[in-house]
Amino acid sequence: MNSIEHFVDGKILKGNSKKTGKVFDPSTGEQTSEVKLATTADINKAIEVAKKAFLGWSQKTPLFRARVLFKFKELIEKNSDELTKIIVSEHGKVYEDAKGSLIRGLEVVEFACGIPQLLKGEFTENVGTNVDSWSTRQPLGVCAGITPFNFPAMVPMWMFPMSIACGNTFVLKPSEKDPSCSMKLAELFMEAGLPPGVFNVVNGDKEAVDAIINNKDIAAVSFVGSTPIAKYIYENCAKNEKRVQALGGAKNHCVIMPDCDLDQAVNGLMGAAYGSAGERCMAQSVAVAVGKIADPLVKNLSKKVESLKVGPGLDKKSQMGPLVTKQHLDKVKGYVDIGVKEGAKLVVDGRNLKLQGYEKGFYMGGCLFDHVKKGMKIYKEEIFGPVLSVVRAKDYNEALNLVNDHEFGNGTSIFTRDGDTGRSFASNVKIGMVGINIPIPVPMAFHSFGGWKRSLFGDQHIHGPEGVRFYTKLKTITSRWPSGIKSDPEFIMPTMK
Ligand code: NAD
Repeated sequence: MNSIEHFVDGKILKGNSKKTGKVFDPSTGEQTSEVKLATTADINKAIEVAKKAFLGWSQKTPLFRARVLFKFKELIEKNSDELTKIIVSEHGKVYEDAKGSLIRGLEVVEFACGIPQLLKGEFTENVGTNVDSWSTRQPLGVCAGITPFNFPAMVPMWMFPMSIACGNTFVLKPSEKDPSCSMKLAELFMEAGLPPGVFNVVNGDKEAVDAIINNKDIAAVSFVGSTPIAKYIYENCAKNEKRVQALGGAKNHCVIMPDCDLDQAVNGLMGAAYGSAGERCMAQSVAVAVGKIADPLVKNLSKKVESLKVGPGLDKKSQMGPLVTKQHLDKVKGYVDIGVKEGAKLVVDGRNLKLQGYEKGFYMGGCLFDHVKKGMKIYKEEIFGPVLSVVRAKDYNEALNLVNDHEFGNGTSIFTRDGDTGRSFASNVKIGMVGINIPIPVPMAFHSFGGWKRSLFGDQHIHGPEGVRFYTKLKTITSRWPSGIKSDPEFIMPTMK
């Protein structure tokens, strides 16, 4: 059995924990690895190493750091096939989708290569007579990242390249369900010339997370995962005086207007609802059908959902892979059972899908519900699987209110040919990321990513310009040369003349 340890101080660290987790290949259902789950002592050791490394790394010039990142970018490109296969083997998503998610992570590294420009401060000559003032952004110290299972490359890469580019050192605690990709990225970063201890990966569960929250040497925590854990992280990091951004779950609505291009909307919804088996925080899990579009929408969707090609991620014909674990598969199927009991109409039932030769894999087919209502559990909660709920709304205002009244606020889209409707939606919807005829509006790395409401606790979105602000502290310096100083004491609040 393959054993996955930790990566600390530039090398593999065998922790002292006896606790292990199981890592599966979701396509076969077989356990492929055992992952060591760190003790508090393991985490503290990694943080101590990162604290020492900070002394040197924070003093490196931004240009030096950019050059290491540039080399890292080249190595990711060179190793993209291996990294993609690692993602497929532990997460289950199909190869091209896994590769796309790696590229979206790579784009953050590319953005971080511009760190000399991004860290440039502001300068004002003569804020007072012979007095100059400038502001600069300085790194925080040791930062930590805690990441979910659904994007084992992209989500960690939203965090550590930005943090490290800013001059911080980093301890990453990836999901214990698919930890190998982070281990490989750490190895490549070292190969790129990153000094030991600047980037560390410690595998673990709640004990590791709590050790991060309670360690006084952690200056900032970036979290991405489900909303209850995001709230826990936010509250406890704040209590321990840490800077924190905690991105949570989602229930993204896609509003389908009667004037839209139906083919475009249906195809957009198919990819957004069933791509990555619905295990995306930007998955569209609710289609709001406005007015007379509802019947043709459901008819067209149902044909496509029935013919979805489900199979192992490495099979080029597969459009949708398995779910991540048996436990998660059971949870998603359980939600479908609940929806049926609640009275929603199950138009396509994928619960009983079996694949010949892969009987133990964690597969299910796509499910499509119609006539889902606001009060239903399947509408209120995040299912995080290949289940699309159609809710019928009589007009645009009812659709907009549905989106705005939901507790989550990650992403949303509208399909319409009408410019006024698109503009009104973008302006009035209470959601962090909005698409107009774009089914999955994930911002590029040079913008920033983040939701509203209970999809993000904290003030700053992740990566991009917001990432630079999150991972640095602002300092403003006001200065004059001694020759310009009057020698009399001044007891009044200084004002500039
Ligand atoms: P999760 O919340 O179960 O786990 C996320 C991380 O928290 C993991 O590293 C895990 O080890 C840790 N963790 C789990 N339980 C914990 C506990 N009790 N105490 C402390 N730490 C704990 O999430 P997941 O199932 O891995 O990922 C899916 C969720 O992530 C979905 O809700 C999805 O919407 C969300 N997500 C959100 C975004 C976003 O940008 N908003 C992006 C990706 C995923």
